[in-house]
Amino acid sequence: MRVVESYTAGRWIGAADGRLVRDAVTGAVVASVSSDGVDLGAAHDHARTVAGVALRELTFHDRAAILRAVGKMLLADTDYLYVLSHSTGATRADSAIDIDGGAGALLAYSGIGRRELPNQRVWVDGDVEGLSRDGSFVGQHIVTPRHGVAVQINAFNFPTWGMLEKFAPAFLAGVPTIVKAATPTAYVTEAVVRRIIDSGLLPEGALQFVAGSVDGLLDVLDEQDTLSFTGSAATARILRGHGAVLDAGVRFSAEADSLNAAVLAPAAGPDTAEFGLFVDEVVNEMTTKAGQKCTAIRRVIVPAAHVTAVEEALVERMRGITVGDPSLADTDMGALVGISQRDDVLAAVGRVGGTTVIDTCDFVGVDPERGAFMAPTLLRATDAATTLAHVVEPFGPVATLMTYDTIDEAVDLVAKGGGSLVASVYGPDLSEAAVVTLGIAPYHGRVHTIDASSAAASTGHGSPLPQLVHGGPGRAGGGEELGGLRSVLHYMQRTAVQGSPDLLTAVTGSWVDGAARRDKGHPFTLYFDELEVGDCLDTEPRVITLEDIEHFAHFTGDLFYAHMDDDAAKASPIFEGRVAHGYLVLSMAAGLFVWPDPGPVLANYGVDNLRFATPTYPGTEIRVIFTCKEKSLRAGSGYGEVRWDTKVVDQDDNVLASYDVLTMVAERGAAGGVR
Ligand code: NAP
Repeated sequence: MRVVESYTAGRWIGAADGRLVRDAVTGAVVASVSSDGVDLGAAHDHARTVAGVALRELTFHDRAAILRAVGKMLLADTDYLYVLSHSTGATRADSAIDIDGGAGALLAYSGIGRRELPNQRVWVDGDVEGLSRDGSFVGQHIVTPRHGVAVQINAFNFPTWGMLEKFAPAFLAGVPTIVKAATPTAYVTEAVVRRIIDSGLLPEGALQFVAGSVDGLLDVLDEQDTLSFTGSAATARILRGHGAVLDAGVRFSAEADSLNAAVLAPAAGPDTAEFGLFVDEVVNEMTTKAGQKCTAIRRVIVPAAHVTAVEEALVERMRGITVGDPSLADTDMGALVGISQRDDVLAAVGRVGGTTVIDTCDFVGVDPERGAFMAPTLLRATDAATTLAHVVEPFGPVATLMTYDTIDEAVDLVAKGGGSLVASVYGPDLSEAAVVTLGIAPYHGRVHTIDASSAAASTGHGSPLPQLVHGGPGRAGGGEELGGLRSVLHYMQRTAVQGSPDLLTAVTGSWVDGAARRDKGHPFTLYFDELEVGDCLDTEPRVITLEDIEHFAHFTGDLFYAHMDDDAAKASPIFEGRVAHGYLVLSMAAGLFVWPDPGPVLANYGVDNLRFATPTYPGTEIRVIFTCKEKSLRAGSGYGEVRWDTKVVDQDDNVLASYDVLTMVAERGAAGGVR
């Protein structure tokens, strides 16, 4: 028997007389789980005073690099986790979702951090808002890490992924985490946490772990802390009503149970590819993780005209499922997490009612009474509108088949789930599928709408993805996780800062229009480490002539009337006569600001936010005001990305075009040796 230990304030502590956990397959005792002796107040204090401070010293890219290292370290050796995971009833495929999927979430968030966040400690959200006529008073939203702790309370079903998919965005945000694992599978979570702590890759206290009760922890939380819960609606209700959430301002998010639906569209008759795909996905969702997935399909909603064919196809597929020892390669479905979980599921099946289509199978290589085995169970609702399948969640390999006559009726049935994490729609007629998708979207965090063209590449109904939101309204908890940067924001505070352009430049590290500029010579001759935001070039002028416009038009083939035909241009509601091509203005601007010789600027990789503000007529004298706006070092690459505020103006300083030029600029030390 393992004594599952908690890791708080830098030390491991456990108790052999805790709650006993049994192997889901054999029924043997495998672990004792208790948080007796763990000082949860000290853990909270440690997270805030040690880890939070250290994390906020790091940039987003520093944290992203650590996430990547942790993810790779975990993936390098997963065998021992698979062995532990089998004891929870999980097959190899189930374990891969949890273990490899969990490490994958770290890698995904590392990539999101490197690609979508600056190499800074502050994240700027949106544009500068002009708040005064003369531009001396402006506002901008900034996002900074909250000075608290990300407390996560997790369900038993994904002991690795459930922790890491929340840890990754919190860590990227710069906020330390305290994880409370669900007791039935805490030994798997402990093994992962131990690996991460032993690797020494994380700043001390960035991840703490509690096995057993967290009684008392919530009492010390305040408005800087977040509490993220995954589990049953009943526990979510208790936590949502806690004084920490109601009175102390703790940010609370819940992912609770969910009666997810799959809809077969009317056009998906038995002879269509979508019919077969639908049947496969329903069986897959019923049996993966023995149905103990918050996203599993519980309600199978099909046209009345096809119900007999669907029922027969489901039964045939379900008869081919091998249920038994999860460590065997041929096993499709393992055990539930424990006998009491199985009892709960069987009781829920009784409450859902209806008729039983199939609930028996042969169990291979196991004693189904000693382990928590049950057969995949398909029910059929006697009345689709009133069935308790819209209300009761059997958290196991169970689904209920029900019928509809019209698309509106199908949408209404889906909505009876009261808000779900995900629904699937299968059908070959895209206009029909689009109507169902739009009809059910307000009730879901994710809708997975499949036809034959996307099926092979589909990531599946039940798979939450780091880049897409996971959560749902109402019964599903009302929370939102993942979704790329959306979940990072959950751990941060958005603040509107008002002041002068110079103040905003000092706060954000990004040059703001109207802030001081300086001329240190041509900025393209400065290395990344020498450049400062506000370094500026005000170029020589150049006149754009009609000959330039003619030349550019014939050279590029862009003979649009506004450049070539004076009468037609005058007749338009926009122009007073022939105008220069916007791209000619841009090209000439580049000719004015680039430094021709090899130097620190390695390449231009694009422009952002391009606007042609005013038509440029022949005879206009243009020049460029080119200002270093943002710098972001690509750690270890020998270069950084530099964003330049670029304004093409006329002789009266009217802005003709504005945009950000994006370049890669070498560090001085790495000159000639950029990796
Ligand atoms: P649960 O009984 O609500 O337990 C979830 C977590 O809450 C466990 O860590 C549990 O700890 C803890 N907990 C229970 N009572 C608590 C309290 N008073 N104060 C603080 N923590 C408390 O749910 P479960 O049986 O583990 O999980 C199954 C349910 O989770 C299903 O309904 C399923 O739909 C839902 N689920 C939802 C999602 C989602 O993303 N929406 C994902 C997975 C599961 P102990 O284990 O130590 O009691």
